[in-house]
Amino acid sequence: MDFDSLLRDPARASSLRTDLLRQSFLAHTDRQQRYHSYAEALGIDPEDSEIAVDLIPLLPSALFKQPDLDLASVPPSAIIKRCVSSGTSGSRSIVPRDETTLTRFFSSVTASLPALFGVERTGLHRGIVLGPTTAEAGDLWFAYAIGCLSLVVPTEHFERNSAFSAEAAASRVRETLSEGLDVALIGPPQRVLELSHVAAGERSWPTLSAASFVITAGGWKTRHMRDIDPAHFRDLVKRSLHIPDSTQIRDSYNMVELNSVIHECEAHEKHVPPWVEAQARDPTTNRPLPAGRLGVLAFLDASATSYPGFVLSEDFGIVNNTFCACGRGGQRVRVVRRMSRIESRGCALKMTVGQDADRKRRFLLSVYRDRTVADAQNRSRPDPEP
Ligand SMILES: [Zn+2]
Repeated sequence: MDFDSLLRDPARASSLRTDLLRQSFLAHTDRQQRYHSYAEALGIDPEDSEIAVDLIPLLPSALFKQPDLDLASVPPSAIIKRCVSSGTSGSRSIVPRDETTLTRFFSSVTASLPALFGVERTGLHRGIVLGPTTAEAGDLWFAYAIGCLSLVVPTEHFERNSAFSAEAAASRVRETLSEGLDVALIGPPQRVLELSHVAAGERSWPTLSAASFVITAGGWKTRHMRDIDPAHFRDLVKRSLHIPDSTQIRDSYNMVELNSVIHECEAHEKHVPPWVEAQARDPTTNRPLPAGRLGVLAFLDASATSYPGFVLSEDFGIVNNTFCACGRGGQRVRVVRRMSRIESRGCALKMTVGQDADRKRRFLLSVYRDRTVADAQNRSRPDPEP
């Protein structure tokens, strides 16, 4: 797919996306009896080849946190990686990926970086990953995903045996620049801050080249769980690392359930890849909201074959579809905040069925019921008579 030309031709991208999502919906209802039943329970024809994208049933990401719930659309022997989100046990999502799904994720990385950063495989960029290699990352999706920078440029990783060295990364940035090469640095905001701190303490820190860039990915909290403000962050990193322009500092969004990465352009807007549909949904009715309104973000990703890539996230955000200041069109998404644990628990059920009591009942009977909600309901019932 020519990613960049599709971002400049949103009408063509939209019609292509609708086709791909319909094919994906049919493939999952055909291959997976549970998703088939789930669609039926929600009053959706599982064989509707003309289904409106808004009606494709979403899986709340809370469902991926239930280890005993099999969300795979392929046989267990086809699963090559059970990708796990960061977080404490019990709040981790597990996403089964087969060869095709993982290969498509790699393609999304190799397509999106050249489209939004102008990085080419044959170019002068050298990757500096503030995380482990993909081999050492194992099933931990976040670390694995940032390690995938190595697919695009020659890359070194600065977390070894779970220890991160900001000093080693800083000295490699310096060396790379002294060789006349460009730096492509990626890591969580907290680690970029640590690297910036090291650079700020050095007497003769070099200026980064105009083609160099810093990509942040992951949570916007410090180690002490304080919020990091993105604009303040860019300002500090720009000054400490001697970056000519703040357009060289970008953020990327991904979650383990999403099979694509969403990168910022030079205007700090996150452009959704053409094969993904982003929606903001009303938290009480689950209806898609008009562009520009704050809601719970949903992503329909046609690239996932091993599980239905139609996911209701645990983030609040806004979707826009006007042309961006950078000249690209299509959908842009702004992630505003993460749901609290209590919000996400309550939402998983409510969001899937809206306020239709009959559907709620049928949903509870369906294979995708949220056991935490069902358990809570059981607990709130009076004990049976002895
Ligand atoms: Zn843009």
